[in-house]
Amino acid sequence: MRRILFTPFLTLSLIVIITLKIYPQNSQKVVCITVDDLPFVTKNYINNDNTGKYITDKLLTAFRKYKVVTLGSVNSGKLIVNDIADSNRIKFLNQWLDSGMTLGNHTFAHKNYNNLFFSEFKYDILDGELYLKDILAQKNLKLKYFRHPHLYRGDTREKADSLQHFLDSLGYIIAPVTIDNSDYVFSWAYEKALSAENDSLAKRIGGDYISYMSDVLDYYENQSIAILGYNIKQILLTHADMLNADYMDNLLKMFSDKGYSFISIEEALKDKCYTECKDEFYKKPGGISWLHRWAYTMGKRGDFYKGEPEVPEYINELIK
Ligand SMILES: [Zn+2]
Repeated sequence: MRRILFTPFLTLSLIVIITLKIYPQNSQKVVCITVDDLPFVTKNYINNDNTGKYITDKLLTAFRKYKVVTLGSVNSGKLIVNDIADSNRIKFLNQWLDSGMTLGNHTFAHKNYNNLFFSEFKYDILDGELYLKDILAQKNLKLKYFRHPHLYRGDTREKADSLQHFLDSLGYIIAPVTIDNSDYVFSWAYEKALSAENDSLAKRIGGDYISYMSDVLDYYENQSIAILGYNIKQILLTHADMLNADYMDNLLKMFSDKGYSFISIEEALKDKCYTECKDEFYKKPGGISWLHRWAYTMGKRGDFYKGEPEVPEYINELIK
């Protein structure tokens, strides 16, 4: 009798213990939202301070609603209008800081490191500190984070090492990306629809953007588990553009509905893989997710990467 009562309890306890041991972080669902190309970026839409104010206000309203602390990565060159730093654009960055967000350096002019020597590219990093360091200093904050333009870290080992050593010497912390995506492609199409005052097309693009990002999240969640054995503290890349201004609320709701909570970059980087996992991914076109850099370094090839969600064809057509 005693044996019959004891066995199910013991079995259940063992299952719980084994499950906790094997899958300690498998179920963790946390994400850091990052926003690049601040103060704002447009391609097919009017580039003036009204657009900048609209984008800034809408993004920050969505972040406040969902209690999100983002990292915003700044191109200080975008602060300059008619050869001087534009006071409104500086104000936008102050709005970010006053809302509790973190700001990082994303270089002055967002150049393509794959087309430059390190000796040229390094000046774009130093120029990226223009204004930004002062804006932070006025609030007793220090410039700490660096986000690579296009996520390019260097297309040869020498260039990658030179860049990393330089960033280390300046005291920067790298802000990686795990959930890479093509939000900017949707954005270019969305801006075209807005400029043409085609509301129904803009709505269709916005809706498809959220579906796409939902698929992208599922994909990188599965990739993380396949590569690392657990779901990493994810870091999402987005941009300070009209599309994300209008759809950030929907995007955050999508993450929230899937059980995700939002963390800062500082909290995300506590995941041990960001310091321990090896990245020796060179000589490849395109900036890619850090998850795939690690996978590549581990020797994963070919089919391992298949299934990454694609931008719908009509959107590619629209931006031609
Ligand atoms: Zn960028």
